[in-house]
Amino acid sequence: MTIAENKVVTIDYTLTDNSGDVIDQSVDGGFSYLHGAENIIPGLEQRLAGKSVGESLTVTIPPEEAYGLRDDALKQVVPKEAFDTQDEIEVGQQFHAQSPDDKPMVITVVAVEDTQITIDGNHPLAGVELNFEVKIIDIRDASDDEISHGHTHGADGHVDHDA
Ligand SMILES: [Zn+2]
Repeated sequence: MTIAENKVVTIDYTLTDNSGDVIDQSVDGGFSYLHGAENIIPGLEQRLAGKSVGESLTVTIPPEEAYGLRDDALKQVVPKEAFDTQDEIEVGQQFHAQSPDDKPMVITVVAVEDTQITIDGNHPLAGVELNFEVKIIDIRDASDDEISHGHTHGADGHVDHDA
C-alpha cells in the first residue's frame, strides 16, 4: 500500500528550522493524518504521496508550500486601550481573532510600549523554511466516517464523536 487520497497515514517526524532548532515533533506512536484532506501542510502532503511503510524522507519545504510568506500588512500598531483586558499585555502573548475575510487567525503581541502595542497576524511559521525528517510507520484505508469528516479517528479508526 502506498500513500494516496483517503489513506490514514501514521508518521514519525521531526520538524526543524534552518538553525537546527526543533519546532515540533511527533510523540510516542507517531502522528496520524488523513491524506488528501489538507490535514497537514501542502508541501509535505505532496512529498509523502506514493511512499510506503518503512520509507524515510528528509525534505525542505519552502514557506509558499507551508504557512505562507510573511505579510507586513498583518503587522499593526494599535492603541493599548483597544485591548479589552485588565491583565498585563506581554510580548509573545497570543490572541484569537477573525480576519477581514472571516478566517480564524492568531495574533501575536510583538512589542509593548506605554500607550501602544504592536501586533502581528502572521502565522508564527510564516516565511519560515521547514525541514522535515519523516519516517512512514503505517498506512491504512480510511473509514467512510473519516473520509466524510475529513480527519482521522486515530489508530483503530473507530472513535465515536459528534464532530
Ligand atoms: Zn470525525
